[in-house]
Amino acid sequence: MAVPTEALYLHDASLRALTTEIVSYQPISSLPEDEKELAKNVGSDESAMTTRQTILYPQGGGQLSDTGTITVANQEPSFTVSLVRKAQDGTIIHFGKPSNGDSSSFSKGQSVVQRVDGAKRDYHSQLHTAGHIIGVAMEILMPHMKEVKANHTPKEAGMEYEGLLYNEHKPVIQAKIDELVQQDLPVIISWLDAGTVVDDRAKPGDGPVRMVSIGGLDQSPCGGTHVERTGLVGSISIRKITRKSGISRISYEVK
Ligand SMILES: [Zn+2]
Repeated sequence: MAVPTEALYLHDASLRALTTEIVSYQPISSLPEDEKELAKNVGSDESAMTTRQTILYPQGGGQLSDTGTITVANQEPSFTVSLVRKAQDGTIIHFGKPSNGDSSSFSKGQSVVQRVDGAKRDYHSQLHTAGHIIGVAMEILMPHMKEVKANHTPKEAGMEYEGLLYNEHKPVIQAKIDELVQQDLPVIISWLDAGTVVDDRAKPGDGPVRMVSIGGLDQSPCGGTHVERTGLVGSISIRKITRKSGISRISYEVK
């Protein structure tokens, strides 16, 4: 049985470097089918590395994967991480390749230092928190509209709701978002016991449920990374509001 990777980014999103240990290192071709599937957009020359803990965020919950490096005891070469994915058994897999092309540099049990590409992570966290801020604004302004989808990907970020929103709603929602950013509210992370039924966004029985709240105004099950206060998002701008098949999308960006 694989031991699930300890996902340290869930507890401290500010970690940018960590000393840990290699648990496995292998070519993608030798992975089980379901894990190979996770690497379908990765170059065939890349390998899969797992470590005891990780500070690198795996793609999911509408948030893109981190990138970074994993280096053996601060020596060259480093393993350049291009994509991080979470497997069904809880293992977090780092896909990438050695900076010098020599795969024999890495093996099980080695002590390694992980580093996150900080600027990219900060931007992804800002986009993710911004999505939650829009969620709070919508709960306050239009509590009858149900959130159905959240995407925090650069250039594609958007929050989707059942029901119809029009351009006339845009300045109203924008003003509420600006207010929530200006209030510099804390982003509060908490954990609920396994099996707690939150709503249909969290499946009961999956282990403790991680909840994210913007200043105590909402409660959302979420496994993503966030900035610590709403003021750290920068400015959120609603790019456009569009409608399709009864679903409205608020597309946004952060600057
Ligand atoms: Zn979230």
